[in-house]
Amino acid sequence: MPHGYSLMVKEALIQSAEESSQTDICINSGEICDIGRPLEHQADEYIEAGGKLVSPGFANAHTHLDKSDLLSRMTPDQFGYSLEQNRQLIRQFKKNYTVSEVKERAVKVALEMLAQGTTAIRTQVDVDPTAGLTPLKALLELKEELVDKITIQICAFPQEGVLKEGAYKLLEGAMQEGADLLGGLPLVEEGLENQRRHIDLLFELAMKYDKHLDVQVDESNDPKDFILPYLVEKTLMEGYQGRVAATHAISLAAVEDAAAMPVMEKMAEAKMTVIVTPSCNLITRFPAQPGSRPHNSITRIKELSRAGVKVALGTDNIRDVFYPLGNGSMLREMHVMATTTRLSGVKDIDAVLDMATLNAAELLGLDYGVEKGKTADLLVTAADSKRDLICGPENIPVIIKNGRMVRRTAPVPPTRS
Ligand SMILES: [Zn+2]
Repeated sequence: MPHGYSLMVKEALIQSAEESSQTDICINSGEICDIGRPLEHQADEYIEAGGKLVSPGFANAHTHLDKSDLLSRMTPDQFGYSLEQNRQLIRQFKKNYTVSEVKERAVKVALEMLAQGTTAIRTQVDVDPTAGLTPLKALLELKEELVDKITIQICAFPQEGVLKEGAYKLLEGAMQEGADLLGGLPLVEEGLENQRRHIDLLFELAMKYDKHLDVQVDESNDPKDFILPYLVEKTLMEGYQGRVAATHAISLAAVEDAAAMPVMEKMAEAKMTVIVTPSCNLITRFPAQPGSRPHNSITRIKELSRAGVKVALGTDNIRDVFYPLGNGSMLREMHVMATTTRLSGVKDIDAVLDMATLNAAELLGLDYGVEKGKTADLLVTAADSKRDLICGPENIPVIIKNGRMVRRTAPVPPTRS
């Protein structure tokens, strides 16, 4: 007796590390219900994949939708500043934020991301005495409005620190207002003791509201700015295994192997995920410091993976004061990642794609994969292989979110053979 399904993707190419096969994918109630061929099934709607690769949707593990597209408000004299100057400049913009102004830019960039295959986003949102809760309110509205198209997870980010007067209270307000998790930026505090205090307070708040943590650590080229070991220690001490992500972790690449290796082993024990944003890490100016091991501002991707630490990919800022470039494409970010970390071998490409799909989705609490029982957030691509996907034109003909086709830009092109 044939089953009825809401959507069927026919002749989809599925690639795993071991094999690739052409198959049909049956979807119902937002889930992949059946995979195989030939299936005697009927569906309300069909998509002919024509033997092209079907991939899980892209999940962008780190971006700042509230700041995105500030480029459209910037004047020519506001370009090319250092990281510290940019932190001053952003305050000028934030003073003029309104909910509708932030939302207008954020919607535009979120939809740009969706159009390029991103079905889930973890966005940071500034919560600090300059911005107040205005950007958070804008992103909470955005999250609700786009819920059928793109999953948005909101991380309250103390851009100006936690110790500044009023900052902690605002973060607590953000937790109560509906932020999904808590972010951090210890390096913005002066001196090691305050940086540790920053982390302590993050844990205090996260535990009080039962939230995960995502801390931007060691965005510096100075091996002395190495707060990561403390974050790892604290994660283990508080029993927060599997609930803490470390974003950037650049100093891990600046310190010597003997200092880095034990930290990475403990990170695996703490089940931490490292979020990497290669484009933004590359553009930030990091003056060489005495004692710094030569590196290109991107953390130790290969060593982390070997140690059993999951790595997830994010674009970071899109067209704002920190990064006045970008179009939100995860395919482009994967290409940058593969190039800058020399992850170009046969299995490396699988690993890079996993960082932008399975690993990032898992971090966001989503169950991604082209397998029975997984969430039907899928991309019918124009590619004949995973490598072809990363190297080819940034064109995703069909985007499926929660089992529904949310975007179809072109017929799937015929196979090359
Ligand atoms: Zn960031």
